[in-house]
Amino acid sequence: MEGDLVYDLAPDWSRVIVSHHDFNGVPKDLEQIYERLANSPAAVIKIAVQANDIIDCLPIFQLLDRARSEGREIIAIAMGNAGIATRVLGPSRGSFLTYGALEDENATAPGQINARKLRSLYHVDTIDQDTMICGLVGLPVMHSVSPHIHNTAFSEERINGVYLPFEVHDASEFFKRMVHPRTRELNWNLRGLSITAPHKQTVMECLDWIEPEAKEIGAVNTVVVENDRLLGYNTDAAGLIDPLLKQLKTLHGTRVAIIGAGGAARAAIWALKRQHANVTLFARNQAKAQPLAELFGISCKSLSDAAFATYDLVINATPLGSGAHIDQSPATRDQLTGARCVYDLIYNPRDTRLLREAREAGCETLGGLEMLVTQAALQFELWTGKRFSHGLSQMITDSTS
Ligand code: NAP
Repeated sequence: MEGDLVYDLAPDWSRVIVSHHDFNGVPKDLEQIYERLANSPAAVIKIAVQANDIIDCLPIFQLLDRARSEGREIIAIAMGNAGIATRVLGPSRGSFLTYGALEDENATAPGQINARKLRSLYHVDTIDQDTMICGLVGLPVMHSVSPHIHNTAFSEERINGVYLPFEVHDASEFFKRMVHPRTRELNWNLRGLSITAPHKQTVMECLDWIEPEAKEIGAVNTVVVENDRLLGYNTDAAGLIDPLLKQLKTLHGTRVAIIGAGGAARAAIWALKRQHANVTLFARNQAKAQPLAELFGISCKSLSDAAFATYDLVINATPLGSGAHIDQSPATRDQLTGARCVYDLIYNPRDTRLLREAREAGCETLGGLEMLVTQAALQFELWTGKRFSHGLSQMITDSTS
């Protein structure tokens, strides 16, 4: 809104929404804009700003608090993927309404969720002040099926909870200003967080306590908010091993090649060593991966021209096969020929190019969705004390439908 408001048409103000949109970011004078709109006779104020990070939701939630305390009807929204929390939690925090497109392609603003998803995935009409809030912290997060898994579980278990994607650039700032009960600027019923790339290591500095296993792995993928403390866990290791043990029965003495040297590889090495497997790391940048190999006392080789014929198990812990790399594979059929089993940690898409190459090479295959659901079930138990009664295999089927 630019300049002064002009009221010369004498409309029925009880039916008028007076609005301000900023498609670039959060204006510095947001409070003044609110005050100008609040001085109008319109029944409802609408303010929509562009969120470029989850932190941009804070002023919107604060505006909702202010409008409520001043008895003003307001719709306050942070647009964009980083602002989804304001669209889902807004009505429970006093927003007059939230917008939902009929279909994704009819969305009228960035980050708008379609009406079906608002109701069936996020259960927006049942969220209230007591709703337990959980979410996924990462960059990017919108590709994730974790909201589907956890929101289904909340619904199945009849728990008043919601799980949201949190697009976070700076984990330290997010934890300080929105998560830690002793420093946060937002009063919300936050109970748990899943942590994904690139934050699994940086969040460790933000926590009050970390379980010994996660410390040894060197990565946290689960946070529990317990009273005024933040507790860190790693459920990736167990999530990775359980489906593997179901398929291969034992990993004792198994020769394993892990491709990639990031957070997932760390959990994989730790978990496989515990099972007495014989692990070798393959990385595109051997010098960068060497310290990780040394930390766990395993050997490290270059990924270029690698041959996996002498390995029982090959694990992909790189993003090759998903997102921008969807058509890529870290190994070819020829490289895989002779290996017994190929385990791709990627879960979206379910069938990756690596798995297709592996099948052509005559290998057994295992996709990443089983791991995702298994580690999610452990997270859910940490947050709620309950198991998925829905069953893991049903959850896996549902996640792909
Ligand atoms: P990360 O910490 O970012 O590590 C990625 C690793 O892949 C790094 O070592 C990176 O090498 C390597 N890499 C990236 N691009 C590559 C390329 N073009 N060629 C060769 N290597 C490449 O990620 P992460 O958390 O470990 O996750 C890795 C994958 O596992 C992701 O696809 C993720 O979705 C999946 N994952 C699945 C589950 C599950 O539950 N199924 C859980 C965790 C992770 P540099 O160090 O040289 O960059």
